[in-house]
Amino acid sequence: MKGTQTFLLICMVFVASTIAAVSQSSHVMTKEQQDALTPDAVLQEFQEGNRRFTQETITRRDHSAMVRKTAGGQYPKAVILSCLDSRIPIEDVVDQGLGDVFVARIAGNVINDDILGSMEFGCAVMGSKLILVVGHTNCGAVKGAIDDVEIDHIGILLAKIRPVVKQTPSTTSDRTSKNAAFVESVSQAHVDHVVTEIRRRSKILATLEAEGKIKIVGSYYDLETGVLTMRK
Ligand SMILES: [Zn+2]
Repeated sequence: MKGTQTFLLICMVFVASTIAAVSQSSHVMTKEQQDALTPDAVLQEFQEGNRRFTQETITRRDHSAMVRKTAGGQYPKAVILSCLDSRIPIEDVVDQGLGDVFVARIAGNVINDDILGSMEFGCAVMGSKLILVVGHTNCGAVKGAIDDVEIDHIGILLAKIRPVVKQTPSTTSDRTSKNAAFVESVSQAHVDHVVTEIRRRSKILATLEAEGKIKIVGSYYDLETGVLTMRK
């Protein structure tokens, strides 16, 4: 009899732990939750989300339920500008789900008028609290800009990074993409440059930031560790 009770107990513990293991979040942002957020709170959420991403404790989500719940509207926390690079699934990197973030992805995380318009829409019209620019290690677009690649539209895109290449000092005479330290210096300077350019070119976003309603922040993603580090 005692053996049977022990067996049943083990079964119950197993079932309970299995249910816990497959439990999924279907939480989606509401207008009230978005209104209550501050730019710093979103930044902190992203940093905690990145810790979960790197520690394999990322939130399990019920995407079907979230699709249904977000169909009527969206109240994203932030606009993220990230590189096209296939190794940066940016929502996962900061552990966010459907309806949580606007994402613009473009090679070299550069800006143009359309990206700026998208950011203005995200913040001024839709109420997002943060613009996060995400650069990364070993970026092919930055390497192409350093090596002066001139191929059709690729050259047009890389021209947006080239001024930063020219302004970035190097500790050695090797100013090519073979110099890994130089590539990193340019990549990080480029993120800071994009943040400055967003403020300079968009009066709407600069004003929202001056009023404390949003923050525009640069960050840098490490392809080897999955760690996202805020620039300042
Ligand atoms: Zn890249």
